[in-house]
Amino acid sequence: MTSYLLFIPPDTKNKQALFWLFRTALLALNIKKVKVDDQEIHGCETTHTHSFNTVLTDPCFNFIDIHQKTYSFNNEGVILNEKGEDELFTAFYLINSIQEYSTSAYDSIGRFEYKNSFQEKFGKTEINFVTALFEKYFVKNLPHLLENRQNEKSVFFISHDIDSLYGAFFQDGLSALKAGRFDVIARLIANAIILKPDWFNIDKILKIESEYDLRSTFFWIVNKGKVSEKLTNADYSIHSKRIRNTLQMITERGGQNGLHKSLSDQTFDEEIVKLSQNVIANRNHYLKFQLPEHYDQLESSQIKIDCSLGFAEHYGFRNSLAIPFVPFNIKKIEPYHFLEVPLNIMDGTFQKYMQVSPKETTPRMLELIEKNKYNSVISVLWHNHFFNTYRFKGYFEPYIELLTYLKEQDFKFVNTEQLYDKYYLSSLL
Ligand SMILES: [Zn+2]
Repeated sequence: MTSYLLFIPPDTKNKQALFWLFRTALLALNIKKVKVDDQEIHGCETTHTHSFNTVLTDPCFNFIDIHQKTYSFNNEGVILNEKGEDELFTAFYLINSIQEYSTSAYDSIGRFEYKNSFQEKFGKTEINFVTALFEKYFVKNLPHLLENRQNEKSVFFISHDIDSLYGAFFQDGLSALKAGRFDVIARLIANAIILKPDWFNIDKILKIESEYDLRSTFFWIVNKGKVSEKLTNADYSIHSKRIRNTLQMITERGGQNGLHKSLSDQTFDEEIVKLSQNVIANRNHYLKFQLPEHYDQLESSQIKIDCSLGFAEHYGFRNSLAIPFVPFNIKKIEPYHFLEVPLNIMDGTFQKYMQVSPKETTPRMLELIEKNKYNSVISVLWHNHFFNTYRFKGYFEPYIELLTYLKEQDFKFVNTEQLYDKYYLSSLL
């Protein structure tokens, strides 16, 4: 394989953004042995390789004012500049979720709404559209670099948000009561009496997953109780002995713990202190955040990996990119210093938002995977209360079917540290 230098001349306009964009493009396309630099390499430094410089003369990247409210898109969803389709700027716009920066299209709890998104409008929710844009640009402008492209099987990041450990009695009890299932109610009462609530099932989850050689990540809420009529933090205390033991059990068995940022005025770092664990990853509870504020808050915290970027209402790609990435800080004109791992598949999307039956859920997930089976990282969230309870009965099976499929097809699981090494540290080289 030939090594290449993608040379960006020092005086190039928007150089920092281009550096960031091409490094992201190389990871998205999985192109090996290409270095992006503004230093030309001379002579024997490149010893055993046949290196030559690829000078980027016309990157066609005009850095349209990103604060402007509207852009012109063609029917395919590509932003147009005065010369025509601007694949690179469209990729920049999508990766950084710029559509969310100056919007008022929030739902009743303050989240950006899927129904007003680019992805919904252009029918791009289930595809890795950004990588397709990079490919189109490289075919036109840098075709020889595509010879270094490799197809690697996609990998899977599996996690569980722990919202509730004691909700079984009330929520399941209510559903069972409505259905006249007194046998279920009797069991719930019995479990509550002997202090074995049905949703306190982390040990069961670990046991099931070990059969699939899976070591997943558990995100914990450090604040307890109702926040408003609609919103609730945890129903458990992070300081209780039982929870401390559970956190320890997870790490002892090779799993990871992360912060599930609660609805509170506390900063990430203040919540990490309460969690009293050396965590590097976060996902926001209810996927509630707004951009770019969320990225700015992460930047000033010790969090290295955020896993929040997903639509609650639809599975797929909220920023049209199927790999973890380092967002670009537009105010400071430099990359942020954390890794974003987008969320692609969540149980509640099927059960609550799309109302897809459990039976239909598995084929939908497999269809998404089929469309993205190479060079992608698919992040899956399955809540503990979807595992074995009465109210959510039926949504445990799609999860097991998914794990079985991944195992049979020889897809690999990854954790946040592995993702950080590959997509954050290597992007700095
Ligand atoms: Zn949550």
